[in-house]
Amino acid sequence: MAKVVKFGGSSLASAEQFEKVGSIIRAEEERRFVVPSAPGKRYKEDTKVTDMLYACYDLAEHGKDFKAQLEEIKQRYEEIINGLKLNMSLDEEFKTIEKNFKEKAGKDYAASRGEFLNGKVMAVYLGFDFIDSATVIFFNDDGSFDAEKTNKVLSKKLEKMDNAVIPGFYGSYADGRVKTFSRGGSDITGSIVAKAIHADVYENWTDVSGILVTDPRIIENPQKIDTITYLELRELAYMGFSVLHEDAIFPVRQEGIPINIRNTNAPSDSGTWIVGSTGQKSKFIITGIAGKKGFCAVNIEKDMMNSEIGFGRKVLQAFEENDISFEHLPSGIDTMTVFVHQDEFMDKEQKVVSAIQRMAKPDKIDIESDLALIAVVGRGMKSARGTAARIFSALAHAHINIKMIDQGSSEMNIIIGVTNEDFENAIKAIYNIFVETCL
Ligand code: ADP
Ligand code: ASP
Ligand code: MG
Repeated sequence: MAKVVKFGGSSLASAEQFEKVGSIIRAEEERRFVVPSAPGKRYKEDTKVTDMLYACYDLAEHGKDFKAQLEEIKQRYEEIINGLKLNMSLDEEFKTIEKNFKEKAGKDYAASRGEFLNGKVMAVYLGFDFIDSATVIFFNDDGSFDAEKTNKVLSKKLEKMDNAVIPGFYGSYADGRVKTFSRGGSDITGSIVAKAIHADVYENWTDVSGILVTDPRIIENPQKIDTITYLELRELAYMGFSVLHEDAIFPVRQEGIPINIRNTNAPSDSGTWIVGSTGQKSKFIITGIAGKKGFCAVNIEKDMMNSEIGFGRKVLQAFEENDISFEHLPSGIDTMTVFVHQDEFMDKEQKVVSAIQRMAKPDKIDIESDLALIAVVGRGMKSARGTAARIFSALAHAHINIKMIDQGSSEMNIIIGVTNEDFENAIKAIYNIFVETCL
């Protein structure tokens, strides 16, 4: 039996948090491979070490003095080392970092030091071996993750080890330069390690007792999700669920390894299970609600659009030529709408419109901005009739104007467009009708 345990920044922000993590790991022998993030916030207004590193490197990159900022970062680690009474020093590491910052080793290198150093501390604290992720996690020249090489090298390395600490968030290019995943990427490292060792479980320890039906900043104390499928979570993560990095699902999904989201501050809570498939009914018809603001809808009308072969392609080509990706694409008989990110689209709006005119010759183009998209996701929706109708009526009761509603082909996803202004209220109305009234 082996488990991979990943701990997020808030779980490792102080010596006190480290002690909680230590007792979690020591409680089960199977918790053999540990993936730490960089120290996060100790309190609400605090700064994450990763953000401190970006800011510090920014000074270095512009040839400014960064010593005081680097010293502040060092103190974050010393506070932990001293609090845990560890017999270790990071003096040499910080000298190397200072030198590399002066030589402009890059933003990714800078950010990665948060996890690198925390991994060093964690390894000493636990008495585990330390593995520099730059030696086992690899990226292709184009910046994409090299899954094949990584899995080969990493599984070979870990095969003979009883336990190890593998810092999250970074790896390296073939030439050794450090590269990070996008923000929150330690979740991906945990998943990669779980795959490499064929783990029984990937435990992802954070500061909430599982995944909640919706963002706790919008709904106070939302219900917890007990079990969610990879597919459901993928849809929700893409639409703004921020508990787990959206790409963290892929490596474990291939192996069918379940992810268990747990709370470092309440370790006896069972958390949320993320699994391949489940016969377990979800508590409610819907599993989760997620959403994002800041979209534009480009609405294109043309009589007999459906019978014109290549119409959709021509429209999309206008976006592609201007380097704009689309988010969502609902269509009717004689209309199609392209949802794009407002901040990407605004500068190029007129270029795109004229390209559509030129290539697709529509009857009419309408653009609406300041829209939000909300995804209502649930495997239970397949067998429950009238879900869309219930959403309609809940939103109508709340006096919210629905700009668009579209059911994905998977039948477990309904996407709704509303104005940015109505976003929070729409989520509240949907939560109430499917969750609150069913308790
Ligand atoms: P970590 O540092 O452990 O990786 P994150 O900050 O990345 O933790 O993710 C956990 C946070 O995600 C929670 O503290 C919570 O505020 C936020 N969050 C947003 N949406 C949800 C949700 N639906 N369920 C649970 N947490 C959520
Ligand atoms: N420390 C990194 C970040 O803040 C990675 C992570 O926390 O997963 O984005
Ligand atoms: Mg995270």
